[in-house]
Amino acid sequence: MVPQWLIEKTRDGERLADVDIAAWVTGYMRGDVAEYQMAAWAMAVLLRGLTLEETTALTLALWRSGGSVPRTPVGGPRIDKHSTGGMGDKISLILAPLAASCGLVVPMIAGRGLGLTGGTLDKLEAIPGFRVELDPAEMGRVVDAVGCAIVGQSDAIAPADRKLYALRDVTGTVPAIPLIVASILSKKLAENLDGLVLDVKWGCGAFMPTRPRARALARTLLAVSRSAGLRADVALTEMNQPHGRAVGNAVEVREAIEVLRGAGPSDVVDLTVSLTARMVRLAEPALPLRRAETRVRAVLRSGAAFDRFRRMVAAQGGEVGAIDDPRRLPQAALQTPVPAPRAGRLSTVDAGLIGRACLILGAGRRRTDERIDPAAGITDVCKVGEVVEVGAPLAVAHANERRRLEEAMPLILSAFQVEPV
Ligand code: URA
Repeated sequence: MVPQWLIEKTRDGERLADVDIAAWVTGYMRGDVAEYQMAAWAMAVLLRGLTLEETTALTLALWRSGGSVPRTPVGGPRIDKHSTGGMGDKISLILAPLAASCGLVVPMIAGRGLGLTGGTLDKLEAIPGFRVELDPAEMGRVVDAVGCAIVGQSDAIAPADRKLYALRDVTGTVPAIPLIVASILSKKLAENLDGLVLDVKWGCGAFMPTRPRARALARTLLAVSRSAGLRADVALTEMNQPHGRAVGNAVEVREAIEVLRGAGPSDVVDLTVSLTARMVRLAEPALPLRRAETRVRAVLRSGAAFDRFRRMVAAQGGEVGAIDDPRRLPQAALQTPVPAPRAGRLSTVDAGLIGRACLILGAGRRRTDERIDPAAGITDVCKVGEVVEVGAPLAVAHANERRRLEEAMPLILSAFQVEPV
């Protein structure tokens, strides 16, 4: 294989054979395809697209770069959820233990922050000691013992997705539908699932800016799932303002704990319940969605999911004391309110600008090798429709470096539009 010939084919809109795509991914893992060549190809895919057949071949090649989580007879149906990513999206932290408490088995392989959107793994690593790198056998043992586990791609599970995911994050190649589909489904195929719920986001804080683009992504996700023999359901979720009131890592773990304890923002509660209910319905297709939601809400209220979350944290090496007392999670030295410039009703809270500000505060990465600051982020974010007084906080910025805080403050302010009432 001559790498540049493959790049040129995709650049010129020519179709690659399945064997070429398999060789391309194997070459990338062996080092025969350089990072800059993969980056150039990813950009060609973003600009020219891939056919459904090529996207399926890429999905299978990324999956086959590693092994799969072993399937044991323990527990109920194996169902997972994956979101295409959005600001303040801490749903997986709540949903995995909640679904397990509803009798499902959830072997979740999640991602790190991508583009401006936060990653479930980065959030979990804000819990002292929490290990996201389990090999498939160890993950299998946690899943058998607890009913759920949340881990990352590793040398053993979808390693090619891990490498490509990190490269896309810093080369402007995240929002390509074929790359998103292959990335998500390669991980999900490695989970050995009975069913998958896909949460496709659209809006200014999502990779897909409009609902029609999100629908196109959803269609491709469903088509490739079908070709790969995976039963899937899809929900479209608006992402113009962040989910909940916290965006970052430790700050989102705190908000997830609030929800698991029966409180927390209603939009986070409602979306988690709705997606978990879809998972339950994949396991019990005759169950109406409303009945599934009622059942899931009752389980959340019972505290069983909080208990299950504590057990998952313990099984993955995390400090359970920090879950029982979230003040022990990382806290930023600087916590500064952003005052409202005038009184009125919030007409916009721009999730994209909030995401950019979070990256500047230190909650995201500018280079693949950059460390994130687990304490950085934004909390107390006001929601669209709320009424504020002049000078009242629109949000609170968290950072450990003053220079980052000063750079982020005007950006945070610009995310809020206040209209006279
Ligand atoms: N989630 C993933 O796992 N991959 C993507 O490319 C986007 C969202």
